[in-house]
Amino acid sequence: MQKQQLSFKYELEKKVPRLAPGGITRGASVNDFPASVGLAGVSMRLQPGGMRELHWHANAAEWGYVLTGSMRNTLVHPDGTSYIDNFEPGDVWYFPRGYGHALEATGNTECHFILIFDNGNFSEDHTFSVTDFIAHTPKEIVAQNLGLTLEEVALLPTKEAYFALGANPDDSAAIAQPRTYPALTSTHRYPLHAQAPRVIPGAGKQRLVSQNEFPISKTITGSLLELEPGALREMHWHPNADEWQYYISGSAEMTVFLAEATAVTEQFSAGDVGYVPMGAGHYIKNIGTEVCRILIGFNSGNYESIDLSEWLAANPDDVLITNFGIPAEVVKKLPGRKLFIAPATS
Ligand code: MN
Ligand code: MN
Repeated sequence: MQKQQLSFKYELEKKVPRLAPGGITRGASVNDFPASVGLAGVSMRLQPGGMRELHWHANAAEWGYVLTGSMRNTLVHPDGTSYIDNFEPGDVWYFPRGYGHALEATGNTECHFILIFDNGNFSEDHTFSVTDFIAHTPKEIVAQNLGLTLEEVALLPTKEAYFALGANPDDSAAIAQPRTYPALTSTHRYPLHAQAPRVIPGAGKQRLVSQNEFPISKTITGSLLELEPGALREMHWHPNADEWQYYISGSAEMTVFLAEATAVTEQFSAGDVGYVPMGAGHYIKNIGTEVCRILIGFNSGNYESIDLSEWLAANPDDVLITNFGIPAEVVKKLPGRKLFIAPATS
């Protein structure tokens, strides 16, 4: 594909969903969104009592962020340890590639969350569900393995459940490991919204969770970026990671610069996904009248960015005078420091 034809926008929430009793899911892998090579994402909603069944992902780690509602997740590690955590809006989880897990809504309202996978080829082909595994194993083996009679094995699903719907676990049993909110990081849970953000007065804020804050998250860094109307997440790039974005609210414009005189400018609004390849230059500007909130995932446990203002500030004036062919008075007007987010121009 010619890079000129690439789009870095995918209208995820307009996709026809996969639906079943208990849940709704919309996913964007590289098959749906060709630019999205290094990361993929899913917007999933579980109804009260809804469950995303026990499963694992063969080729990707899973990073999750709760937008609304509450949930309980279970996880098993290959060393035999297991974990049950409860999640509320603003909480993050990370499940290493291949580890078995399940997700279940725990409240009386729908639970909506975003999943980010560190492989654009993430797809259902690489997701293994417990019911599918059992349904495709000889019944005698299942009976021997689980200590059941063949009649009891016949009660199990004969195909993948994917979603399941049961009693709403919104009772004390849901709180298998009570938490004190905003509690602190458990092995798999990080309360991102409880983090004191990096604030750029009048321009915006950023919360960031890398493996420095959340040690298990070795392959994904997450960020929650908020831009005030007119504010600009300045021109920058990430030396070590691709970037996957979910626009939670508001609207924005992004240009992705691909070198060799090629750049793509697109507009994004709530429910859209954006993508930036590793190393590609980009900015994000809030073009609406409300705060623009963006959930961002990077496919590295370490966050790195180089921002244009900081780079220019690191050079002597004469370098900039010669490079840009501009007079010294104009060079003196440059920021001279890292902006990160520039406020709206008045
Ligand atoms: Mn999963
Ligand atoms: Mn970026």
